[in-house]
Amino acid sequence: MTDEILEVQDLQLAFGALKATDGVSLTLRRGEIHALIGPNGAGKSTLIGLIAGTLRPDAGCIRLNGRDVTGCDAAARARAGLARTFQITTLAPELTVLQNVMLAVAGASGAPYRFLRPALSDPALVERAGGFIARVGLAGRRAVRAGDLAHGERRRLDLAMALALAPRAFVLDEPMAGMGPDGAREMTALLDLLRREAPILLVEHDMDAVFRLADRISVLVSGRIIASGPVEAVRADREVQRAYLGE
Ligand code: ADP
Ligand code: MG
Repeated sequence: MTDEILEVQDLQLAFGALKATDGVSLTLRRGEIHALIGPNGAGKSTLIGLIAGTLRPDAGCIRLNGRDVTGCDAAARARAGLARTFQITTLAPELTVLQNVMLAVAGASGAPYRFLRPALSDPALVERAGGFIARVGLAGRRAVRAGDLAHGERRRLDLAMALALAPRAFVLDEPMAGMGPDGAREMTALLDLLRREAPILLVEHDMDAVFRLADRISVLVSGRIIASGPVEAVRADREVQRAYLGE
């Protein structure tokens, strides 16, 4: 078993003349939160897309748990244990919190969607789904329609559905975006819980959250990683301060 759950090697992707990802290598290790920071347009979301499989690299390689998944599409990577929340999870707004998570649990077994509806009355599934819902703090909201949830609650539901896939790694693109200070604090606590399930590659602008949560930070500028290492080392890096932190 390897400690490097996710390994990205020399990834490249150009959009026309723009090198959005210009030779990026990084790893995500068991148990850690690795934050990816950088200014707008640096290429963070592009890198997340390359890792999740919604974008294909021009060159380079992506390994998940030691296995080369560069040629796999996003669905295959999700089945291999890569959980990317907030962007590909599709909540059914007319179904309840419980039903949405039950569908995720049933879907994790690879059953096609039309076979999933009968699963909604399976008591074993209710029990398992209930466990994931409790873990994200939505136990009191099980019977509420997903469409009626507040913004922050919807993100929690997203995470419960991601947990149902028994992930090996989370890749999260700005989970605090659009949240007020209370929501951001809540999400910080939630990410602290999630890391016990699987390591997290975290793109985040909220530097308070990054400094609180991250074990390592990589700084992306113009498609290249200009610094990478333990939080304090990156924070003290002069080039990083000039390029990004403005300190
Ligand atoms: P970040 O998430 O760090 O803000 P992005 O990865 O979204 O940055 O974008 C990196 C660069 O790539 C930006 O200059 C952006 O305009 C460009 N870009 C992103 N997606 C595309 C696309 N599909 N086609 C062309 N250019 C793109
Ligand atoms: Mg982005």
